[in-house]
Amino acid sequence: MCGIVGYIGKKNAYPVILTGLRHLEYRGYDSAGIALFSDGIKVHKKKGRVSDLEKFIEGKDVSGTIGIGHTRWATHGEPSDANAHPHATENGDVAVVHNGIIENALTLRSFLQSRGHVFSSETDTEVIAHLIEEMENEKSKSFFDSVRRALNRLVGAYAIAALSVREPGTMVVAKKGSPLVIGVGEGEFFVASDAYPISEHTKKVVYLEDGEVAALTASGIVEIRTIENEKRTPRVKKIDLEIEALEKDGFDHFMQKEIFEQPCAVRDCLRGRLSVPPKKAPVLNLGGLRDVEEKLFSAERFVFLGCGTSWHAGLIGRRFFETLTRVPSIVQYASEFRYEDPLVRDTDVFVAVSQSGETADTLAAMKLAKERGATVLGVCNVVGSSVAREAHAGLYTHAGPEIGVASTKAFTTQIAALFLIAARCAEKRNALGPRRFGELLETLRGIPEKIGDVLGREERIRDIAERFGETKNAVYLGRGISFPVALEGALKLKEISYVHAEGYPAAEMKHGPIALVDENMPVVIVAPRGEHHEKIVSNAEEIRARKGKIIAVVSEGDASFDSIAEDVIEIPECDELFSPFLSVIPLQLLAYYVAALRGCDVDRPRNLAKSVTVE
Ligand code: GLU
Repeated sequence: MCGIVGYIGKKNAYPVILTGLRHLEYRGYDSAGIALFSDGIKVHKKKGRVSDLEKFIEGKDVSGTIGIGHTRWATHGEPSDANAHPHATENGDVAVVHNGIIENALTLRSFLQSRGHVFSSETDTEVIAHLIEEMENEKSKSFFDSVRRALNRLVGAYAIAALSVREPGTMVVAKKGSPLVIGVGEGEFFVASDAYPISEHTKKVVYLEDGEVAALTASGIVEIRTIENEKRTPRVKKIDLEIEALEKDGFDHFMQKEIFEQPCAVRDCLRGRLSVPPKKAPVLNLGGLRDVEEKLFSAERFVFLGCGTSWHAGLIGRRFFETLTRVPSIVQYASEFRYEDPLVRDTDVFVAVSQSGETADTLAAMKLAKERGATVLGVCNVVGSSVAREAHAGLYTHAGPEIGVASTKAFTTQIAALFLIAARCAEKRNALGPRRFGELLETLRGIPEKIGDVLGREERIRDIAERFGETKNAVYLGRGISFPVALEGALKLKEISYVHAEGYPAAEMKHGPIALVDENMPVVIVAPRGEHHEKIVSNAEEIRARKGKIIAVVSEGDASFDSIAEDVIEIPECDELFSPFLSVIPLQLLAYYVAALRGCDVDRPRNLAKSVTVE
C-alpha cells in the first residue's frame, strides 16, 4: 500500500510533492522518491523515510513544474534504493510511480527483456515503465495512448502516475483496484492516493473510476478514457475533510480501519497466487516456495513458530496442514522453543509466522531450527524483513501496513497464506482428490466477500459491546478449529480494553474454569456449524445452567443457541475449515467496541509495542 503524489502547474513541483508525501507516509515508509520534469526527467530516490529523501536531495537540482512522487510499502523486491519508485526506463524517457501489485509482472519482464529492455530493480512496477516505452516505440498516437495500451496488458491492481519526454507538458494517471484522486486547481492539477494532500490546495476533486486513464496538462484534464478506449466525462466533486480522518479513511481508529480492510487484504494475499481459469480447475502459483519445493513436498513433520496472534495463526495453520496433507504438525511458541534444546530433523519443515518479520523470539527460533538442519519458511507482512531474509523461502501476506498495535488483517492474511501453502503441499503429495482440491480453492476465493458480509453486521456487535458495561472478566470458548479463534478473541479483548479474558477449549471448562461462571460473566462461544456441533451446544447448556451470559457466534440459520444465548451473531455458512476467517471478525469488532466505548487508546494500548524486537 504505497502513497503516490503528482503535481502539474506553474509552481515549483518539488515542495508540493514533498509535503504530499509527508501526508501519505502512513501508507508506507520503506523508501521515497520523486521524478521532476525540467530539462528531461530527473529521478531522486532513497531507501527510508521521506525525511531521508529530503536530506538526500539537499543541494541537487529540483527545478520543474511537473513531478511525481512515491512513498513505498514494498510488495515485490526488498526496500532498497534500486527498488524505490519512481521507476524509469534505462534512457530515462519514461518514469512511473505505482501503488498495487502487477500479477503478470514476471511474464511481462521476460517478454520485455527479449525485446532488449534492461531492468534495474526487482519490482513488479518497473515493467510498467518499459511497457509504456515499448508502446511509445510502436508509435502510439500520443503518450496517453501508449499508457492506455500498456495498461491493457497488465493483470492486477494499480494506481499510477507517469511522465514521458515525448510530451513534456503532460502527466498520465490511471487506476484499477488502488485509490487515486485528482485535485482540480486554477491552472494546476494535483494527484494523490487520498484527498488529504490535495485538500490544502483545492477542494475540487475528480475521483477516477476503476479502469479509467486521464491525461493532465497545466491547462486542463485533456481527456479521460477507459483502458478499452471509451470516452468518459470528468465528474468534479467538492471535498471538506480533516487530516486525521483522512489518514484513517473516515474511521475513528486505525484498528477499526484495518478490520474493515480485511476483504481487500485477503484478496491481495491471494492475488496472482490463486487463479481459476474459466471452466478449468483452480491453479496455485506460489513462486516464493520454488527454492524449497523438494524438501517441502517430502517433509515428515511441519512445525509452526510464532508469538501472540501469529502463534494463534500457527494453531490454525497446523489444522490446515494436517487436514489437507495428513502430515503430522505441531505448533510452538517461538520464545519457548528456542530454549528447549529442541529435537529437529532435516525432514522437518518449520513455518515461522510474524507480521513485522522482526519478532526477536521468532527470529532466534528459526535460526536454531536452521542450524539443526531443518528447512524454514517465513510467512510475514513486511517485505525484506529479517524473517524474510532468514527463511529459505516463504510467502508475504501482502496485508499492507498495519498501524494498530492489535493485529487484525495480519491474522486473516497469515491464515490465508498458510492455507495456500498447505493446499500446494496437498496437491503435490496427492493427498486430496482433484475435486476436493478444486472445491477448497473455490471456497477460499469466496472468503473475502464473506468477510465483507460479516463486517456488514457491525451495528449488532456494537450493541452487544455496549451491554458489556463495566465487566472485568470474560471467557471465550471454542472447539476444534474454533479454539484458536477463541484464544485470538480473548487476546484482542485483553490487549486493547484491559478486560481480563481467557480462551479455553469448550470441553475443558468443566475441569476447573466453570467455577468462575456466574450471572456477571460474559461467555463468548465460537460455534460455527461443523462435525461435532452438538458437543459445543451441550457445553453452552452447562454454562447457561450456571447463569453465564452467552454470546454465540454461529452459522447463518442455526437456531440451536436461540434459547441458550443472550446474543447470537451469525456468520455466513461455509466449510468448517474456513470458519476462522469469518468467526474471528465479530470477535475483533467486539474487542474494538468494548475498548472504544471505554475510552481506551485503541491504537496504542498501554505496555505494548507493534513490533517486539526484544526477547
Ligand atoms: N508492487 C509495488 C512495489 O513493491 C508497489 C507496492 C504497493 O503499492 O503496495 O514496489
